[in-house]
Amino acid sequence: MAAWKNEKEITYDKRMAPVALQEAQAFKCRLFRPKIDIKMCKKCMICVVACPDNCIEVSESGKPAIIYSNCKGCLICLRECPYGAISEEREQ
Ligand code: SF4
Ligand code: SF4
Repeated sequence: MAAWKNEKEITYDKRMAPVALQEAQAFKCRLFRPKIDIKMCKKCMICVVACPDNCIEVSESGKPAIIYSNCKGCLICLRECPYGAISEEREQ
């Protein structure tokens, strides 16, 4: 029988977790989803650093892009954006 690993032994990236686990994490608690207004974005990348789940990536064009399958809707990114480029949308 496999033993449970302690936190230090778990080295995989959260994005490598099985899809079912990702969806469970993302949708269980998400009431609102963040939305980036690219026209207002100044590419400061503060949101990329601020997201506790590493689910804002930098696209090829150098703009932030939210990976919604990992986003739990905490809206920290919205609060941290100094340019008001992130808004919230009610989850459908
Ligand atoms: S924090 Fe705001 S302005 Fe900065 S990259 Fe993110 S969305 Fe753009
Ligand atoms: S709402 Fe939270 S989890 Fe989703 S992108 Fe923003 S900071 Fe990351």
